[in-house]
Amino acid sequence: MVQKQPGELQGLQIAGKTCVDVELLYCWPTTSNSSSPQSEGIFLEPVQKALLAHTQLRINNMADKSFDYIIAGWTKNHYGPTDWNIVTPPQPGLQNKECRLPRGRFLGGSSGSNGTICVRGVPQDYDDFGFPEWSGKEMFRAMRKSEKFHPAHWFPHNKKAHGYGGPLHIEPAPALFPIAHNLLESYQSKGLPYKPDMFSTGEASNGCGHAMRTTYQGSRTTAADFITKDKERPNVTIKCDSTVDKVILERGSDGSLEAKGVEYLDNDGNRYKVYANKEVLLAGGSYNTPTMLMRSGIGPKEDLERVGIPVQLELPGVGKNLQDHQLIFTYYELSEADLTDDARVNHDPESYETGSKAWKESKSGWLSTFPFGTFAFARVNDRLEKESKQWRAMNRKPGRDPMGLTETQPNCEIFNTVCYGGPPEYTDFPKEGQWALAMCVFLCGQQSRGYVTINSKDPFEPPFADPKYLEDKRDLMMLSEGVRFANEIITEGAGTKDIIKGSWPPTAKHHLYKTNEEWHDHVSKYASTSYHPVGTCKLGKKDDPLAVVDQHLRVYGVKNLRVVDCSIMPTNMSGHTQMPAYGIAELAVEFIQQENGMSKKASQGDSGELRAQL
Ligand SMILES: Cc1cc2nc3c(=O)[nH]c(=O)nc-3n(C[C@H](O)[C@H](O)[C@H](O)COP(=O)(O)OP(=O)(O)OC[C@H]3O[C@@H](n4cnc5c(N)ncnc54)[C@H](O)[C@@H]3O)c2cc1C
Repeated sequence: MVQKQPGELQGLQIAGKTCVDVELLYCWPTTSNSSSPQSEGIFLEPVQKALLAHTQLRINNMADKSFDYIIAGWTKNHYGPTDWNIVTPPQPGLQNKECRLPRGRFLGGSSGSNGTICVRGVPQDYDDFGFPEWSGKEMFRAMRKSEKFHPAHWFPHNKKAHGYGGPLHIEPAPALFPIAHNLLESYQSKGLPYKPDMFSTGEASNGCGHAMRTTYQGSRTTAADFITKDKERPNVTIKCDSTVDKVILERGSDGSLEAKGVEYLDNDGNRYKVYANKEVLLAGGSYNTPTMLMRSGIGPKEDLERVGIPVQLELPGVGKNLQDHQLIFTYYELSEADLTDDARVNHDPESYETGSKAWKESKSGWLSTFPFGTFAFARVNDRLEKESKQWRAMNRKPGRDPMGLTETQPNCEIFNTVCYGGPPEYTDFPKEGQWALAMCVFLCGQQSRGYVTINSKDPFEPPFADPKYLEDKRDLMMLSEGVRFANEIITEGAGTKDIIKGSWPPTAKHHLYKTNEEWHDHVSKYASTSYHPVGTCKLGKKDDPLAVVDQHLRVYGVKNLRVVDCSIMPTNMSGHTQMPAYGIAELAVEFIQQENGMSKKASQGDSGELRAQL
């Protein structure tokens, strides 16, 4: 549909109508030029991806062109053409380690390569955004809207916590290995009560249960599912292999700025301009959306001037306020065989070939699910309060701990792998007769703040991101406390104390660490990204110096320009960020509908009636 010609492109002929619908833009045909009911539905399929120009659509070599991405092809998807290949500068908080920050270049963004875990956080996380439109109640409702939940006979789900009419298939983890159940027993014996569906209900800050997955019948479900497969529709044009350079801005006679469209490039460097009939939505994610704004001349003056971009609008918060949960994998060896999936994943020398064949032929095998077990949220602040004078002396607001969290918010999430596995830097694979797993801990309410910027005007250059991991002492202390608690759970808990041989690899001795301080070196050496960047186009009130968007996600100071992705989150939530990404997109759709006189439709429930009308 898009003619690949350099130069101006004033509109596309889609379904007999002239409109522009190259993902990042949307048109809102008026009744007069709308010839079919579908034309109104252009962004009622809400996920941001429906509205984005995606760069470099590449499909993992085991997937096919129907956007059926393999589930656990983790390492194959990163650090190559399906990744933005962002690497941090040396991180002083991590013993000067450089961290790779994978970001999916799939149609559907990082949902094409993420860990498929659904942990929605707790309502207070969103109440803390500070706007009634973004309350926990609203965000949990919005997240349900995208969901099509598939119950499993073994899983006691909470009916009201799930949605059933959305395009996003969600199910309980299909294959839990015995070690996951051992851990459930250990969590409970260490004071974390079993609340099976707590990661969808948001009911607890201290407890254990099961995290749902964006998978179904052996396939990954992604944001692309909103606009592909059976959801393909004639009024949505998907444009791949395109990189947005900047927003086309025009200044009115009153000095106001208005977004008119975008300039983008194909892979051969041919430049195109497309214009929106209505407005432009940016959804490039927390690393890339700020760079698109900066290349458009919107951002901190010094960042723009450094690379010679004329300032159209000084907006100091663009790229600032970067927050990412720090995650650490800590490994243990088991003394008992066959509680984990190591036999298939690590002992079989042909495991990848075997796994891919099984997935291709029957959507089965170890690559058809991520090897994660059961999950817990833990409040560990009280432990620090009790044991650390330094912690007790930290500043705090009324009702909040030094991390800024209330009692209803967890300090960390803890989960386990069901075999040896993790990011590619971990290569101590167990051999036959050896069985290992990781306790994974990530920090909630992190206090370190980083930034994103550009080092040139080149839109193909990856963003520069410095997350400043663990630079705030509170983060190091709290994450160490979470890891210390996880170590106690696995080494002393009722379900695991008799089957843990010690640390993995056997030369390591971390299972013997006892104090918070003893963990600092381990934590700062091994912590890295949890792949959850947020905050770089902050939602905030007008008087907030770092605010980039208002409560309806409109960029301050520019007409017809919105940001619709995780970059708008002013603070990180205490879970995994894919469900909030869908929630953000669902709420954006409602705002747009309301502004365009469609509030009746927008107020309909969360069961997919809206989509059914299209
Ligand atoms: C390895 C990994 C594992 C993860 N695991 C989990 C998990 O288990 N559970 C969970 O909840 N979350 C997980 N996440 C995080 C989750 O996937 C993200 O929070 C979510 O995808 C964010 O959505 P987004 O729209 O903000 O950005 P993204 O998903 O990053 O989407 C941005 C899109 O914009 C495109 N884009 C960027 N710049 C341009 C440009 N200039 N022109 C055109 N297109 C552009 C990108 O290519 C991409 O397609 C993981 C992420 C990663 C990377």
